[in-house]
Amino acid sequence: KLLSGDKADDEEASLEKSLRPQTLAQYIGQARVKHELGVYIEAARKREESLDHVLLYGPPGLGKTTLAMVIANEMQVNIRTTSGPAIEKPGDLVALLNELEPGDILFIDEIHRLPKIVEEMLYSAMEDFFVDIVVGQGPTAHPVHFPLPPFTLIGATTRAGMLSAPLRDRFGIVEHMAYYEVADLEDIVKRTADIFQTSIKPSGAHEIARRSRGTPRIANRLFKRIRDFAEVADQDAIDEAIVARSLTYLRVDDAGLDETDNKLLRTMLEYYDGGPVGLATIAANIGEETDTIAEVVEPYLLQIGFLKRTQRGRVVTIKGYQHLGVPYPQNK
Ligand code: ATP
Repeated sequence: KLLSGDKADDEEASLEKSLRPQTLAQYIGQARVKHELGVYIEAARKREESLDHVLLYGPPGLGKTTLAMVIANEMQVNIRTTSGPAIEKPGDLVALLNELEPGDILFIDEIHRLPKIVEEMLYSAMEDFFVDIVVGQGPTAHPVHFPLPPFTLIGATTRAGMLSAPLRDRFGIVEHMAYYEVADLEDIVKRTADIFQTSIKPSGAHEIARRSRGTPRIANRLFKRIRDFAEVADQDAIDEAIVARSLTYLRVDDAGLDETDNKLLRTMLEYYDGGPVGLATIAANIGEETDTIAEVVEPYLLQIGFLKRTQRGRVVTIKGYQHLGVPYPQNK
C-alpha cells in the first residue's frame, strides 16, 4: 500500500505473470488433456520434430492461452501469440510466419474469427509449410512460392463447431477443455493466495472454488476482490464467512451464478413459462449478444443442469426452478 502507483502496478503485473503456470506439472486439473499432450510432446521431442498442430476448444477463461504457453515451454521453443480478428489480411499472416524459427509455435486465439482469405492461406502453411503469395499489381503481378520452417500452430476457440471443416481437419491434436472440478479450482485458489502472500483457510478456498463457475479466471478474479474485502475488514485469513459476505456484495449467488445467469433464468420463467425458447430471443430479452449467451452463459447453465437443450429451444429444468425458488409447474 505504501508503494507509489507505478511501482504497485508493476508489482501487480509481475504477480499476475507469476500466476501463469510454466510446466504441465504446475498446470492444475484437465488431467486427460495434460496426459495426452504430455505424450505428444515427449514423442515430438524424442524425434526432434515440431509438435503437430493443436486445437484447444472450450469456454473462455479455462486457461487455453496459458496452456499454449506451457506447451511452448515444454517444447523449449518460442511462441508468438495473436488472435483471429487481428490478422486482417494475408500479408499480416505472412509477416507472422516469416518470423518463426524451426519448431516455433504460433498461437492464434479466437481462430474461428480469421478472415476467410487468411484461413485459406493457412491450409498450405499447416499442411506443407509453404504459402503462395501474389507480389506486385496489375500486369506485373506474379505468384511467389514462399517456403516456411516447420512450425506448430496452436488454435484456440470457444466453439469448435464454428470452425470450417478444412481448417479443423488440419489439426492433428484436438483437445476439449472442460469446466474445472471444485477440487482443482481449490488448488488454483490456494496457489494464487500463495503467490499473493495472502493466508486463506481451506474453507475459504473451497467456497471460492465452489462459486467460480468452474473457471480459473473467475476464481482468480473473485480471490482478488475478496482479498480486498478481507484487508479492509482487517481479517488475517480469508475464511468462508468473508467469502460469503464478499460474494453477496459482488452479486454472485450461492450456486456461483452472476446477475446475467440469473436474469436469463428469470426471464425464461417470467416471459416464456420456462421455455422452450430460442437463444436469439433470450439474448434480445436480456440485452446481451447472442454469442455471449452461447459461449459464456449457456454452457455453464447446461453443465450444472439448470438448462436443457431441446429441438424447439432451451428449457429451464426442475433444478433451475428450484434455484429460483419457483415451484415447477404441474403441467410440464
Ligand atoms: P483462455 O485462453 O481459455 O480464455 P487464459 O489462458 O487466458 O484462458 P486466464 O483466463 O488468463 O487463462 O486464466 C487466468 C489465470 O488463471 C491464468 O493467468 C493462470 O494464472 C491461471 N490458470 C488458468 N488455468 C490454470 C491451471 N490449469 N492451473 C493453474 N493456474 C491456471
